[in-house]
Amino acid sequence: MRMKEYTDDQLKTGDWVKTISEQSYRGWHAFYHTSQWKSKRLAVLKRDHYQCQICRQKIPAKYSKATTVHHIKHLKDVPELALTDSNLISLCEDCHKDMHPELANKSRKPSFTNKEHW
Ligand SMILES: [Zn+2]
Ligand SMILES: [Zn+2]
Repeated sequence: MRMKEYTDDQLKTGDWVKTISEQSYRGWHAFYHTSQWKSKRLAVLKRDHYQCQICRQKIPAKYSKATTVHHIKHLKDVPELALTDSNLISLCEDCHKDMHPELANKSRKPSFTNKEHW
């Protein structure tokens, strides 16, 4: 798939997220396949030392490896914060599930990989 690059304006307003979502059969998942997200995700994991930020607050001595970068304000609601550091947090799988009770309730849903998450 050819990757289109976006202007600063589109990145700032979140329009590019809406555009790729509308153009791709993957819908909102298309965002998680962009090079912009992949490099941002790695940067956030590094910033958080690959450590789950919720486990760290609860039990400082405990180290839980973060596997997912979560949008505090959900991508669908606030696409302009898609790549904003302050809206992104590294989480372990358990804590991330807690953030998405709506997904955990669907028992037969296909499992998401770590890279492709909500
Ligand atoms: Zn955790
Ligand atoms: Zn999430």
